[in-house]
Order: sequence, then structure tokens, then C-alpha cells
Amino acid sequence: MPISIKHSTGVDWLPKLLVIDDDPNAHDLTDYYLNTVVSEMLHAFAGDEGIRIAETSLPDVILLDIEMPGMDGFQVCRRLKENDATRNIPILFLTNDKQRRHIVKALDYGGSDYVTKPFFPEELQARVRSALRTKRANDALREQALFDPLTNLANRRAFDEGLNASIADYTRNGHEFCLLLLDLDHFKAVNDTYGHGVGDEVLTQVGAAIRKRSRRYDVTARYGGEEFGLILNQTEPSEAWDIGQRVLEAIRQLSIFADDQQLRITASAGLASTLSCCTEIDAKQILQQADDALYEAKGQGRNCMMEAAGLLR
Ligand SMILES: [Mg+2]
Repeated sequence: MPISIKHSTGVDWLPKLLVIDDDPNAHDLTDYYLNTVVSEMLHAFAGDEGIRIAETSLPDVILLDIEMPGMDGFQVCRRLKENDATRNIPILFLTNDKQRRHIVKALDYGGSDYVTKPFFPEELQARVRSALRTKRANDALREQALFDPLTNLANRRAFDEGLNASIADYTRNGHEFCLLLLDLDHFKAVNDTYGHGVGDEVLTQVGAAIRKRSRRYDVTARYGGEEFGLILNQTEPSEAWDIGQRVLEAIRQLSIFADDQQLRITASAGLASTLSCCTEIDAKQILQQADDALYEAKGQGRNCMMEAAGLLR
């Protein structure tokens, strides 16, 4: 799966906890003692089931048993830490006293902490609260590092990460994706004529328009000054073309006023796809194709979209 880049909600944070343990008793006890600490409790009774739930539900903290039939806790931990989507979820290992020698290994495998069985309720609650505080602080830092504050879109760094994740997903699983690059027309003139405050307002509203017309699994980014990038995962070129046209139309419809007159804001776009690249695709290649198409759109008089050679024929 491509990594998802989304905002954590700072205000209404409703933490989710996943328990992975083959012992049903452990589930009953954590339910009982932790229902005031977290908002939602998820349960898995085997390692592979736990990984699946972690990948789809993205909990905020995981309680992980070590001794389980099939995949043990160490293997589960390793798999979760290898996956970009689940890497940042803190894992608290559950150990019983005779497993205490495992604690070093558990922490070395990437566990954040451990809790010994049988649980001492206040300690379990305090350790989960502590893990959640760390998770929340890390999410906030990560968000600051990956988002462009002006447009609320992903920044260049997050875009590059997202593009590499989509390429890896294509290489490994054959999932096609499209890349749309978009550049505002004559934006320098807006800044020069009306000032950077108006320019920033344009960028903010364009960011909102792009987000509104994209889907949950797309990566939408401010790629450069007035340039935007959309990674449209598992999307046919014809569908990507329609999304691009809708975004361009939304930008034309923006209602921004300066000096008592409405600004005419338009953008040009270039579309590329894994289908327009060679089989050994890399980020540079697909970016170049989208950029060439964008350049062509500018040459055609701007306010339009062009596709990489042969893509829609
Ligand atoms: Mg067990």
C-alpha cells in the first residue's frame, strides 16, 4: 500500500488501541482496564491477523504478546516496523515474569515499552497513556515536517516520499498510478500587481480546491512555489484526465478579489502515468514526462492540460 499522508486531528484525538494476544483473558482484562484510556479497542488473536488489522485500521498503540502459536510477537513487531504505514505506531510488549529475559530483545526489535503479566492495572494504564503522549507528539512533528502550512497540502518532501511509495507499489504489486503536475498561469504578475498577501490567498484557495476534488488515497502536494503535484494511485489515465479537468475548472471558478476586481486565476497541467513510462520506472522519469506535458500545455496558450505522448490514444 502507498503510504497515507494525512493530518492527525490534534483537537478531537480519539486514540485507538490494538491488542494482539492468543489468550482471550488478556483481551478481557485490557478491555476492562483501558476503556477509560482509549476511545476504541481492536482485538487480534494471532500475529497475522494483528498485522492485517494494524495495516487497515492504523491504531495509535499496540499491545503485543510475545508467545503466540504461529508468528510470535518478535516477528509481528519486525513486520510492523518494516512497513511505512505502521512503523510509527508504538508497540508495548506483553511479557510474563518468566519471559523477562526477552525484554532486551523486544526493545531492540523496535518495541517502545513492555508490560508484565499479570497486569498491575495502574501501571498498564500509565504505560499506555505515556505511549499515546509520545505518539501524539511525534505525529504533530511529522505533520509539521510534511505539510505546507499555506495550502494545507503535502510539501515537496512528503510528495517525494509518496511518489517513491507509489513506484514501489507499482513495481511490487503492479498497481498503476498517474501523476499530474499543475502550474498557475502568470502567477508572478499576481504577486507583482497586488502583493504577496493576495498571492498567498490565491495559493491557499487553490490548495483547498485541489483537496476538495481529490480522493482520500491521492497525494496532493504543493510541489514548488506555484506548482502543485497530484499522485493518483490505482487510477486509469482517462479517470486521471477527468480529475485534472475538474481541478482546472475549480481553479477557474475561484472567486478572489483585489483592488475591487475579480482576479482571473487559471492553471496549466501535465499528465503522465506508469503506462507512459518504461517498465523500469523511477521518480525522475515520470516527473520528466509530466513536466514535458505541462510545458506543452503552457506552449498551447496555457489554461489547459496535456498528456504524456501516446497516453490517451
Ligand atoms: Mg501468548
